[in-house]
Amino acid sequence: MTQLPKIIIVGSGIIGASIALACQDLNADILVLEQGTSGGVASGTSFGWINASFAESSAYYALRLEAIEGFRNLGLRLDLKDSLRWQGTLWWEDAGADFDAQWTKMLSNGYAARLLNKDEVSVLEPNLVDAPEKAILTYAEGAALAHETAKSILKHVSSNGGKLIENCMVTGVQSHYGRLHGVKTNVGDFNCDMLVLATGAQAQSGMDGLDWSLPMANKTGMILQTNRLPPFLNHTLMTSDVHFRQNVDGSLTAGEIFGGDFNPAANPNTLAMQTLKRIRAQLKNVETMTIADVKVGQRPVPKDGFPVIGAVNELDGLFTAVMHSGVTLGPLVGELLAAQMLLGSKSALLADFSPARFEV
Ligand SMILES: Cc1cc2nc3c(=O)[nH]c(=O)nc-3n(C[C@H](O)[C@H](O)[C@H](O)COP(=O)(O)OP(=O)(O)OC[C@H]3O[C@@H](n4cnc5c(N)ncnc54)[C@H](O)[C@@H]3O)c2cc1C
Repeated sequence: MTQLPKIIIVGSGIIGASIALACQDLNADILVLEQGTSGGVASGTSFGWINASFAESSAYYALRLEAIEGFRNLGLRLDLKDSLRWQGTLWWEDAGADFDAQWTKMLSNGYAARLLNKDEVSVLEPNLVDAPEKAILTYAEGAALAHETAKSILKHVSSNGGKLIENCMVTGVQSHYGRLHGVKTNVGDFNCDMLVLATGAQAQSGMDGLDWSLPMANKTGMILQTNRLPPFLNHTLMTSDVHFRQNVDGSLTAGEIFGGDFNPAANPNTLAMQTLKRIRAQLKNVETMTIADVKVGQRPVPKDGFPVIGAVNELDGLFTAVMHSGVTLGPLVGELLAAQMLLGSKSALLADFSPARFEV
């Protein structure tokens, strides 16, 4: 009997979990090593918006657009009913010329979007105190609790014979004549045929035995969760001073303005209170809304801002997948990377995102 290729994935966030699933689908023997507990770090502090509304290049837009479908497929396959909603987004974060530019860009991309006036927004979101004069509805978008999604994926992988070891920190790689054959960890060594570093914001830390690490420009963000409320919000709302959405369990997830960097001098609880105040100012009937949790997290952002996905030339058998918007991208990236690793098929969607751009 031929042995299945043995793949170790370092990191159990949405990216590592998605890669584990897709590699297992292609008949690999999976071992996920996680230095903490499963589900990831950034994945546990994410806003979780699944979208292609924003992309700084046409290649990135194409990847994000396809990724929405990738997440839909995952939702059809696994039971994600408690962590995934396809509620669409109402966006009025910018005004004036910036709003118009965003709408024009969506039109020219043929993105699934409609321009709504105040009355139309009020009908869709009757609990807004004062609907904006206009908003863009991007009806194909969704949002996910990424930590819970990663755990659901890992549960599926485990039930099909994959293994996960928590509290296992990978400290180095083992290789022979440029070919990787295992990893060193705080609990011992493990052999493998291929290794994927899905270490999120910690990608720059590097490993013993590896003359390579990814330059990062991580950004800090604050996310808050409220208590559970009866269903009253129908979309993800990207307003001019706060963004928020209602989860399946009734709680709201909210964040400060998207993609910004958290001021290190700011107190997260103070920022959370200000954020709650902004939400309250926008909504009717939220007297009982309180903060249940405040999290500060690192967005894993490679130095040039774009995802890094693919083979690391430094060692045969070594791959990496590190990115922001990893919630949007995770399930698709898992599939594309698994196909590259196990079938040798390189998707054109990944052409611009190879780690080779950081190798000299
Ligand atoms: C505030 C905020 C808002 C965001 N909003 C969005 C959004 O709306 N939409 C979106 O798509 N994305 C969003 N993101 C980004 C998204 O959350 C991340 O891109 C995604 O979660 C990254 O997943 P990951 O698996 O790569 O990283 P993580 O979830 O961090 O997982 C990496 C794992 O690797 C483990 N690890 C690291 N080093 C080692 C080691 N040496 N040995 C063993 N284990 C190791 C870590 O412990 C961690 O569990 C947001 C992020 C933040 C912080």
